[in-house]
Amino acid sequence: MSDSIVAPQILLIEDDPQVRRFLRVSLTAQEFRLLEATDGEEGLRLAAQYVPDVILLDLGLPKLDGVEVARRLREWSTVPIIVLSAREREADKVAALDAGADDYLVKPFGFAELLARIRVALRHAAVAASGRAD
Ligand code: CA
Repeated sequence: MSDSIVAPQILLIEDDPQVRRFLRVSLTAQEFRLLEATDGEEGLRLAAQYVPDVILLDLGLPKLDGVEVARRLREWSTVPIIVLSAREREADKVAALDAGADDYLVKPFGFAELLARIRVALRHAAVAASGRAD
């Protein structure tokens, strides 16, 4: 990545250490900057402190469920939220999307697909920030 472009920063809110390790290795290899939170409250705190470009959000989290995390983030932030969850019922997807998530990937997911969805999220955020409607 060129010196003039700051690598996008991703906040991963996930309590499963294996998933965190996999995503840490994979995402940093793609030159993303990565922040990690292991519960919902820490996730909200880091989101406010660092204002990441994208949030990857698990649903089954200690302290604060992911759906509630999305709802509270939406009180003040338009950051793209991609849910990563083993919950595959339609009702769970609807609840997360209605709470403010932009996208939803069911675990286990392919890393290439996750990368593609992160690119989409960054693209939409860039368009929104530029104020253009195209
Ligand atoms: Ca979990």
